[in-house]
Amino acid sequence: MGVLWLDEVDKDDVSLVGGKGANLGELLRLGIPVPEGFVVDANTFKQFIEGTGLKDKIMEILDDVDVNNMSELEEASKKIREMIEKVPMPKEIEEEIKKAYRQLCEEAGEEVYVAVRSSATAEDLPSASFAGQQETYLNVKGEDEVVDKVKKCWSSLYTPRAIFYRVQQGFRHENVSIAVVVQKMVNSEKSGVMFTSHPVTGEKIAIIEAIFGLGEAIVSGAVTPDHYEYDRIQRKLIKVQVAYKKFMLTRQDGKTVKVELGEKGKERVLSEKEIEELVKLGEVIEEHYGHPQDVEWAVEKGKIYIVQSRPITTIKGKVEVSDVEEGEILVKGLGASPGIGIGKVKIVLNPDEINKVEEGDVLVTTMTTPDMVPAMRMASAIVTDEGGLTCHAAIVSRELGIPAVVGTGNATKVLKDGMIVTVDGDKGLVYKGALKEKKKVEVKAVAIAPQIITATEVKVNISIPDVAEKVAKETNADGVGLLRIEHMVLSLKKHPMKYIKDGEIDVYVDKLYKGLKKVVKAFYPKPVWIRTLDAPTDEFRSMEGGEDEPIESNPMLGYRGIRRDLREEEHFRAEMRAIKKLIDEGYTNVGIMLPLVTRVEEVKRAKELALEEGIPLDRIDFGIMVETPACALIIEDIIKECGITFISFGTNDLTQYTLAVDRNNENVAYLYSEKHPAVLKLIEHVINVCKKYGVKTSICGQAGSDPKFAEMLVRMGIDSISANPDAVQRVREAVARIEKKIMLEKLRELKF
Ligand code: PEP
Ligand code: MG
Repeated sequence: MGVLWLDEVDKDDVSLVGGKGANLGELLRLGIPVPEGFVVDANTFKQFIEGTGLKDKIMEILDDVDVNNMSELEEASKKIREMIEKVPMPKEIEEEIKKAYRQLCEEAGEEVYVAVRSSATAEDLPSASFAGQQETYLNVKGEDEVVDKVKKCWSSLYTPRAIFYRVQQGFRHENVSIAVVVQKMVNSEKSGVMFTSHPVTGEKIAIIEAIFGLGEAIVSGAVTPDHYEYDRIQRKLIKVQVAYKKFMLTRQDGKTVKVELGEKGKERVLSEKEIEELVKLGEVIEEHYGHPQDVEWAVEKGKIYIVQSRPITTIKGKVEVSDVEEGEILVKGLGASPGIGIGKVKIVLNPDEINKVEEGDVLVTTMTTPDMVPAMRMASAIVTDEGGLTCHAAIVSRELGIPAVVGTGNATKVLKDGMIVTVDGDKGLVYKGALKEKKKVEVKAVAIAPQIITATEVKVNISIPDVAEKVAKETNADGVGLLRIEHMVLSLKKHPMKYIKDGEIDVYVDKLYKGLKKVVKAFYPKPVWIRTLDAPTDEFRSMEGGEDEPIESNPMLGYRGIRRDLREEEHFRAEMRAIKKLIDEGYTNVGIMLPLVTRVEEVKRAKELALEEGIPLDRIDFGIMVETPACALIIEDIIKECGITFISFGTNDLTQYTLAVDRNNENVAYLYSEKHPAVLKLIEHVINVCKKYGVKTSICGQAGSDPKFAEMLVRMGIDSISANPDAVQRVREAVARIEKKIMLEKLRELKF
């Protein structure tokens, strides 16, 4: 015991060799080439502090320390670390470490440089990541140095940060131990990182970045690496971008030195064969762990080594941020869906003209309608005269992932058919000509879907059933917080009431059922809250049978939402029948959500209708949108008199009705703010009341896609947040961060 070679351990040995050691051992077992090395196990450390009598002294110091008092904490840490480093290592342990190091040297035929890395036994546990808490020493050479650094790693179990962290997380000091990995350093000619699958979409595309020399230069961002993408399904390289690598880092006499590369810097780093070999190694690791991996690799003397592998949780890698060079601005509006789109302008003023939009064109229109979706899918960008961040064009473009600028006021007049333009969907600008894209590369933490678990659920909004499967896979959201059915209904061409008049109600029910099923199935068993039809008259007028839609001076305040559904009971019943069919098939993950509620009677009547259509309300969620100040103010009456299981804030409407700001009117867009104290007060009031009665709270308005807003809601105690597909990940990160912060604040309030 004491010293174990890496190939003697595996993933079940975390308690003995720590997370890092166990992971490296596991890789070796799989036949993955890992630099050779050994581990000084955690028992050795225990033996050391117990045998030397240090343990009691350490615990005594820790018992007395107030971790919230920084100077006390630092003092305690210093005392403990000095004690550990001063007390000589028992001879037999020292000899065992030296012997193992000598063996490494013998195998290499020279005295080797090693990395001495802490591997805490509580490290890499899902509930408490200790990563980075303890120390690592690089370029260590010579027996005495190795022994010295092992002791330094041991003592780093007691840095102020590590002590504080353990107290906050509720770990007992006596239960954590530390192992130390001693591993041969690779003096690489080439190195880099690889994501075994696409880090954002999860597609089977391996992404490799490579530079000459040591890997440090890539991680720090000092050298722009070559970028390769390898399609693992088609088994071919699909992208090769060779960058100019100005210099490389290399190790000389134990020191890292910078070498200018000159002409060599322009050469491609990895050959096709090397890429294939690397991808194969990555596949073995991914397959073994059942999850895409973020792998660090290095090549020394032509041999590939895997230096580290961990699940892709946060990519400490790079994210491309779109930007363009300076240009002439033609129109300005609101950046409604991020990204850069370049193409030929096609102005579409009425639905007959949509056929003129071809792949890659920029679709310019007053406001998009559901008939335009096929054309929108082909467009490289979308620009509208009207609308705000919650208009049809904005919602659909975000869902389709196409850059969009809305509410320009004059795009259909200023832009002309055939013009080439560049659309910046982040900044809300349309430029003349095809501008060069500047890919700003930022080092940013982007977490991939499956890894962050938040107590507050993070869901997604859907309005196009066809994208549900893709969105479910890419976002791994905790369910659908809003399934808008308007889009589905509007794309039927025939007005719901027309189906009913034509005696074709079953056809309508079937169409609804098929559309809903795509979403409910894609997310099963996660909840999908289906919102009943919220049909504003202006949007439904262009449908066949929509001629009778009343002309209203302000459709936003008119005949829409639940008030309309109850007057046109037949289509509401049709929706219930479609939902019933799903429940009968076992999809009890559906929930029913009523839009634009203002009265108790509305909810009561809707419930009666649902029951009459056979919906088992005791088995599924039934709730309302809180979109009007009226609803927010009478929420207690609604809960008491009707019985609902959840509410969801429709902040798009709640804001417009609270502030008297038409959400689609660009003239007053500057006054539109979900963060207005009046809106926030209504939200807080509703959350508090709902908590009292055990009613779940959620948000599905656009504000839920704003990480800052999401943070406020978590503080208020909301149960879930539903964001646009493009925002789920951002929101999830913000939620995770604020939840941790709240916990820390609470912990700090307690005295240890
Ligand atoms: C809202 O009002 O916030 C909402 C989500 O509903 P819609 O945008 O469909 O009106
Ligand atoms: Mg609404």
